Amino acid sequence: MKSYYKNYVDGQWIDGGSGVISVDNPATGEHLADQACANSKDIDLAVKAAKRVHEANLLSAMRPVDRGRMVKQMGKFLEQNSSAIAEELTLEAGKPLWEAEIEIRGAARYFEYYGNQAETIEGKSIPLGENYYDFTAYEPFGVSAQIIPWNFPFEMSSRSLSAALTTGNACVVKTAENDPISQYWFAKAAEYAGFPPGAVNILCGLGKEAGVALSSHPDVNQIVFTGSVTTGSAIASAAAKNIVPCTLELGGKSAAIVYDDADIDNLIDSIRWGIFYNAGQVCSAMSRVIVPQNLHGEISERAGELAKSLSVGPGSERTEFGFNMGSMISELQRDRALALCQKAQIEGATTVTGGHKLNRPGWFLEPTVFNNVKPDMEIAQVEVFGPVLSIIPYETDEQAISIANGTEYGLVSGVFTKDLDRAMSSAKKMRAGQVFVNEWFAGGVETPFGGYGKSGYGREKGREALWNYIQTKNIAIRLGKGAAGRA
Ligand code: NAP
Ligand code: MG
Repeated sequence: MKSYYKNYVDGQWIDGGSGVISVDNPATGEHLADQACANSKDIDLAVKAAKRVHEANLLSAMRPVDRGRMVKQMGKFLEQNSSAIAEELTLEAGKPLWEAEIEIRGAARYFEYYGNQAETIEGKSIPLGENYYDFTAYEPFGVSAQIIPWNFPFEMSSRSLSAALTTGNACVVKTAENDPISQYWFAKAAEYAGFPPGAVNILCGLGKEAGVALSSHPDVNQIVFTGSVTTGSAIASAAAKNIVPCTLELGGKSAAIVYDDADIDNLIDSIRWGIFYNAGQVCSAMSRVIVPQNLHGEISERAGELAKSLSVGPGSERTEFGFNMGSMISELQRDRALALCQKAQIEGATTVTGGHKLNRPGWFLEPTVFNNVKPDMEIAQVEVFGPVLSIIPYETDEQAISIANGTEYGLVSGVFTKDLDRAMSSAKKMRAGQVFVNEWFAGGVETPFGGYGKSGYGREKGREALWNYIQTKNIAIRLGKGAAGRA
């Protein structure tokens, strides 16, 4: 790795107006590299560059198929360099190498998926009688601002960049201070694909300075944010002041309901992925499992065995898929999750396993399972954003649904049953943007993703997300000299 990484603005690699951020390796707590720290002036330069690209129609005037090919080229470039990127991502984010590899492949997939769709965005004609011809056309908003979280930094930047570029927007990306290093690959990918300077700008800076400057910049036309509710609310307020749309993806406290006919082996496999993948730092994590009383003991025991079987340590030493887990992103996040575990014990949840930090350098938390969790306990209401599962018993099906819906969030949910009628009737009642039946995380880049309630608004992924990045123009043409259509 290099010792210092710069920001990329208007096709140039620049230092940060606010000096540097020290990026640590969360698996050791040691300094990894310095990252240029952008100030509001740097953000302004990036937004101005993007605005210039947009106003010159450099992207929007292209034939969509050609723009789509360039977007796909970015994905190919990332794929070709996936080993090098994954190594950096593992070191800065703490995740196992195999998880980082999945993330890079997932990132490349966004560019393929959206790049393929550049030429499929079509308007329609609207009949107004013989004296008119009316049609709609879609146009990019212009400057797309994207504020990135640290949990899946590579996939999150890909998700918004690929869709925004496909639709002809110029982009300014504010990366997360915890793990911004591997993001320079997006700049290299944009250059490789032939995007003009200013079309893709990648900057790291602090949320309170660079993030605020970007989200409140008067020349930004559209904002995409993934992160916490508090920051999401601040960004929505900034967007409202400038009357620009924003898409908010703000995490959750997602629940799986297990019915008494569920396949328990299958459920345990979903728990492995649902709460221990990325050390549980997943907005759509399966953080609550709602189980019938008669299965409470068996599911608790098996979830506990699973948690104990995970080998926890540095991601760079965990190169192969298997029962292993990396560190959390930072001491702050680890200690926050730890405090929530301690509170759960005080409130009367039973610790099946875990609940402590690891006695070694780095920001590790034991894979943790609580049972006998009551729906109103803090551990059942607050997003832990760590490898902590709450098992909540229920008596009746109605109660299970009401527990599942009983938080301020509504990102995803799940149902485990062999009975399709029961699955469908639950799916309809669950207040969440996505319902997984018999497999947590079922779906892909093709399936729309986003929340109900405090989990945010707007949808990422899928064709639906493309509409975040375009606005409709209606063009009505008066023809001939017949009677006017005004009524
Ligand atoms: P956060 O504050 O929401 O950070 C997300 C991004 O927003 C980062 O790039 C951050 O910059 C930036 N930011 C922070 N304050 C800002 C502001 N006032 N205006 C504009 N941008 C701003 O989240 P966090 O502090 O990293 O994590 C806190 C909690 O958020 C977690 O415990 C978890 O519950 C939740 N979270 C959810 C997701 C998700 O996928 N939905 C992802 C991450 C975190 P910095 O990098 O400088 O902070
Ligand atoms: Mg923060």
